[in-house]
Amino acid sequence: IPKRDMRSKADDFIYRSPFPDVNRPKISLAEYMFPRFDKFKKLVAIKDFSTGASFTYGELKDRCIKVASGLTRKGYKKGDVVAYYGINNPEFAMLFLGCAAAGIILTTANPAYTPGELAHHLEHSGSTAIVTVTPLVNNVKEAMATKSLKDVFVIGNPGSYQPFSVLTEDDGKAYPTNVKINAIEDILVLPYSSGTTGLPKGVMLTHFNVVSNLNQCRPAQVTTSEDKNLAVLPFFHIYGMVPILLGTLQDGATIVTLPRFDPEMFLMALQKEKITLLTIAPPIVQFMAKHPAVQKIDLSHLKYAISAAAPLGDALTHEFMHRLKIPLGQGYGLTELSPVTHIDQRPVTVGSIGPLIPNTLAKILDMETGKPLSDNKEGEIWIKGPQVMKGYFRNEKATREMITNDGWLKTGDIGYVRKDGRFIITDRLKELIKYKGFQVAPAELENLLLKHPAIQDAAVIGMPDDQAGELPRAYIVTKPNIKVSAEEIMKYVETNVAAYKKLRGGVEFIKEIPKNPSGKILRRILKERLLSNQT
Ligand code: AMP
Repeated sequence: IPKRDMRSKADDFIYRSPFPDVNRPKISLAEYMFPRFDKFKKLVAIKDFSTGASFTYGELKDRCIKVASGLTRKGYKKGDVVAYYGINNPEFAMLFLGCAAAGIILTTANPAYTPGELAHHLEHSGSTAIVTVTPLVNNVKEAMATKSLKDVFVIGNPGSYQPFSVLTEDDGKAYPTNVKINAIEDILVLPYSSGTTGLPKGVMLTHFNVVSNLNQCRPAQVTTSEDKNLAVLPFFHIYGMVPILLGTLQDGATIVTLPRFDPEMFLMALQKEKITLLTIAPPIVQFMAKHPAVQKIDLSHLKYAISAAAPLGDALTHEFMHRLKIPLGQGYGLTELSPVTHIDQRPVTVGSIGPLIPNTLAKILDMETGKPLSDNKEGEIWIKGPQVMKGYFRNEKATREMITNDGWLKTGDIGYVRKDGRFIITDRLKELIKYKGFQVAPAELENLLLKHPAIQDAAVIGMPDDQAGELPRAYIVTKPNIKVSAEEIMKYVETNVAAYKKLRGGVEFIKEIPKNPSGKILRRILKERLLSNQT
């Protein structure tokens, strides 16, 4: 870390990055990425490990332009919303950058979504078309009973729909060269996040947000055109989409895509593709640190690993580094921050998320008084910088609750700053549950539980778990004289939501849900009770 005063001169309580400011060009994502692709034309940009299909930077750019042309030919224009509901593959990169070039907004849905959850996502985001993969076509069909779409494009066997190749094999002549993108105002992508409270919301990230974040990550990034990164974390989530996919492509490295985390395929890909960088989340750190099969493969080409998306334990970090003999740094961010605000630097400091990346300011707010705090004092972390989202889609109220009038975004995470400017995350203030790095919004499960005929009131919290981080756990008040079992409730939730939202933390029946006078669930009380019962 450069030796630089990390306190703002103007305000003693504002932390700034130790790094000099970087360029933040006000250009669209395509204007930012395509000249880079031209530079690396002949190098392999992206490869699908499961099919072996690979594309050079020249070929990738060509396909992106064709997708932009194909969508324009079909009548899609700037501001329209197209959804992606699928696994990781090179086509995602073609779609994302093709949409970006035409000013079309891409929204991403978790491929684990049930048809009901997908229909809600499509409706809420105002999507008019979807791109999916063969195994998910039936879910799309079911979702379309509630939400109609103009076009369905399928990667793989399209059944009765159109193959995605109608876009990638377009002649490119309808490419919209005259589309004017206002990088500051125009939305590039609409991933979903529940933020600090409530239901999942569309996060409006502009071209400027994402281009800035890519530039901000570069001083800490170790990627060169010689590197190979493995995209095992999903592209639908901001971590897979921006730092992993675009972050790898901006520097001419190769990204190898995996459709899902399958231990055997993952290890085979690491060895066969001679992967040099690992950008992962805590569950995969755990796998690498502990699974016996890891020791049987050649990992000599690995040079660096980053873990982000959820808290990482110190003991696990040591175990990983001891076994793999490579540094493991942490990154930190939020969907609402495009997403990166911190990346640890080498040599890494175990337990820390590192210093602020360039052009990023932070404050630590006392949780009781709301006053800004100085070094080593724990409070809520607030962030300001070019990566702060434009807001929540069609939800001004939630936007105002998340971002202050003067531009500070409230992360809902608790932490402190060490004297050397490195940040430590200690807890989460917000209600969000993270199961293996995936967001589970308690409010969504509570709404579902309240629809059950036997349930009078419900609250959901995260139960700490060594393997998964947290497990969703429900507290239930039943209606008088109605009997229902914990198993029935678990089954009811399981049949209605994606598997990662299941009540793996169990169900507990209680007399009353603790609430404050205005009716807000006091989750802390439930959590404290749970922890004291466990000890
Ligand atoms: P998401 O928007 O899904 O990326 O979730 C953002 C949240 O993930 C943050 O607010 C944190 O609670 C958590 N998170 C991300 N990175 C880390 C990290 N390195 N350590 C602890 N929590 C993290």
